[in-house]
Amino acid sequence: MHKNHRIYFKYNKMITVNNLKKTYGNVEALKGINLSISQGEFYGLLGPNGAGKSTTISIMSTILKADAGNVQIDNMELGTNAQACKKIIGVVPQEIALYSKLSAYENLLFWGNLYNVESSVLKDRIDQTLHMMGLYDRRNDIIKNYSGGMKRRINIASALLHTPKILFMDEPTVGIDPQSRNLIFEVVEKLHKDGMTIVYTTHYMEEAERFCNRVGIIDNGQIVAEGSLQDLRTSSGIKENILIRYASISKEQIEKFSERMQAVINQEEKTIQYPTTALKSDLPKIIIACSDLGLEITQIDIQKVSLETIFLKLTGKQLRD
Ligand code: ADP
Repeated sequence: MHKNHRIYFKYNKMITVNNLKKTYGNVEALKGINLSISQGEFYGLLGPNGAGKSTTISIMSTILKADAGNVQIDNMELGTNAQACKKIIGVVPQEIALYSKLSAYENLLFWGNLYNVESSVLKDRIDQTLHMMGLYDRRNDIIKNYSGGMKRRINIASALLHTPKILFMDEPTVGIDPQSRNLIFEVVEKLHKDGMTIVYTTHYMEEAERFCNRVGIIDNGQIVAEGSLQDLRTSSGIKENILIRYASISKEQIEKFSERMQAVINQEEKTIQYPTTALKSDLPKIIIACSDLGLEITQIDIQKVSLETIFLKLTGKQLRD
């Protein structure tokens, strides 16, 4: 991530969500969601099916109305400034919203007009987004002949035509081919690097680990944990493991090492294992201890706690239910 983004984050709130509640019939989908997302941040909303991710993102992106609570977008109250808010947000909903009998180009023309993009710039914007999504050469094909992944790419293009400051993406890579998936990854990474604020729901842990500055874990309509991945690792109390392989070790070295650190030394496998909740400070300590004792290290592995494990501990559920 670009260094300047970090500095930027601290001062500019882009999205604030206060005590959002939503009930469908007798299903309490949101029970009081609070979020605070800064400019330029890539925020991941994670949770199992039915947790409330789509409902939250739909309310933030003006698609749905909340029963209670409020949302501020770029310091504007969403409830009273929906039109102004819509101008600065792009939405990629789960459901593909395209006309199957029209070409990709015609679909984008339709969306651009809907977003009131000035006609003098619309055609250029369409060309740019088509290039960005790798579909310029297929622009005149009708959507009906597109694969699921290509449709998703056009859906993303349509959300970018009015150059929004915020992009809401609801599970954008579900059920699509690897090629489209990789292209979408590259595009979101570029958009983020260029300063866009992105709110991304997913149940793919590897996506969250790759992109998100911060994640909120949502379960049963409530945020049950929030922070950077490292924050979540630390607060979950689940230990990470430093695994060192050495060339050889003497009895004396084992004794001396054990005096300094409570590691598990396995002479048969020639390994030292050190479980820790403070990886950053313990890693240099263990390397220095090895070096002081003249141990020849042949390999160091860090066995990190996956987000999946943290998630399971926090919610008692697998993400891929
Ligand atoms: P997620 O996106 O995390 O899968 P949703 O926000 O779609 O979760 O759903 C939250 C809860 O609200 C679930 O229990 C779901 O069944 C319910 N729900 C969502 N949309 C509707 C709807 N239109 N009518 C009735 N219940 C709904």
